[in-house]
Amino acid sequence: IVLTVLIVLYAGIVTYAYWRTTVAVVDATLERMAETIASVIAPDISGAVDINFPQDFRDRAAGPAAGGTYYAVWDARGQLVDASAGAPVPPVSPPVGTSSRDGLREVSRLGPGNSRILVGRPLGPTYAAVRSLGLRVAVAGALVLVLSLAGGWFLAGRALDPVDRISRTAGAMVTGDLAARIPVADTDSELEQLARALNGAFDRLQGALDRQRQFTADASHEFRTPLTVLRTEFEWALRRPRSEDEYRATIVKAHKAVHRLTDIAERLLTLARTDQSTTSAGVVDLSVVAVEAIDMLRPLANERQVTLEAALEPAPVHGDKSTLAEAVANLVSNAIRYNRTAGRVSITTRVQGGEAQVVVSDTGVGISARDLPRIYDRFYRADEARNRDAGGAGLGLAIVKEVVERHGGRVGCTSDPGAGSEFTISLAAAAPTT
Ligand code: ADP
Repeated sequence: IVLTVLIVLYAGIVTYAYWRTTVAVVDATLERMAETIASVIAPDISGAVDINFPQDFRDRAAGPAAGGTYYAVWDARGQLVDASAGAPVPPVSPPVGTSSRDGLREVSRLGPGNSRILVGRPLGPTYAAVRSLGLRVAVAGALVLVLSLAGGWFLAGRALDPVDRISRTAGAMVTGDLAARIPVADTDSELEQLARALNGAFDRLQGALDRQRQFTADASHEFRTPLTVLRTEFEWALRRPRSEDEYRATIVKAHKAVHRLTDIAERLLTLARTDQSTTSAGVVDLSVVAVEAIDMLRPLANERQVTLEAALEPAPVHGDKSTLAEAVANLVSNAIRYNRTAGRVSITTRVQGGEAQVVVSDTGVGISARDLPRIYDRFYRADEARNRDAGGAGLGLAIVKEVVERHGGRVGCTSDPGAGSEFTISLAAAAPTT
């Protein structure tokens, strides 16, 4: 619509300007001729006039050869003195000036001795020329309009094609097809970049949903094992009267199962809290955290005949003490539990290159290269049978990773299967407090 209005306006302005210019040229020609006629008029005292046209003036300047131009001259008394053959002369001389009448353009002026001169010309040919120009401009405008519409249609179709693909994929995802991806053309347009970015986001979304599903399945599975123990133990005890020793054995097994359930629930709760919590901004010295972890876990180390060694330098970081303490304790506890009898665990804290570090190394069973990338996954255990015995649910390192990454740091592990492992937590060091 805007284009149509613009083209119509353009055609109108061009045609009108052409019309004005052509009429101005006609006027100038008529003025010149009136001037020429005025120059050959000789008045006399009685008010009559004499006109001495040059040779051929009538034939050259008026008639069909001159585009139908005509003239008329009145003397001072209003008597028509001369007029070209067939001139549409008005009954009285018109007022001085330029005027149009019945498709005629006329110039009227005063001549010598108060005579009146009228020169005119039919505007028919001028009208025809303007009409023809207007028609050509209109046809050209219509062509431009059709071409623009076709081009616009084509370009809009091409430009909107990715949007169409994106909305179709989004529609498929809404109806449950989470594997749907936007087909991406091999160009670098902004919309293809958007499509690629969206596909990346969909991948991550699907990954997160898959992990969530896996997590729920794993969690249910972890709860089911101790619950099954509880049910079978109670059913066995209730089936008929048992001896006191048998009841005691049942209670011990039930107690162990309940202990395991509580442990899993508490660790899941810790993970959920770590997921949501923002770290508080206090300064925590990792060496103090390590001392507390060592004190807490010394009985476990003694029980497993593992020696704890510590080399602790101040290592202040900004963060939340209780979650950091849990992370360090988890590393030390793993180092003790996955150690060999009479093994060693050494805990080091230090500041190195602007990073505060906790390094926990052990002389234990180590972790195979196959397991190494997966040990931080929730519920992942390198060796199910052995680790179920060791009591873990596969959540300890998930908590460590979550806590450390929440604090903007990272946790790394190097391991020599059969010889031992070394876990390192690195966090940005805080300026030491005085
Ligand atoms: P868990 O509660 O089973 O200890 P974690 O998440 O703490 O779970 O550890 C995951 C798995 O990584 C463990 O089951 C164990 O196989 C392995 N692992 C963790 N720490 C060590 C270590 N210090 N030495 C050997 N293996 C380890």
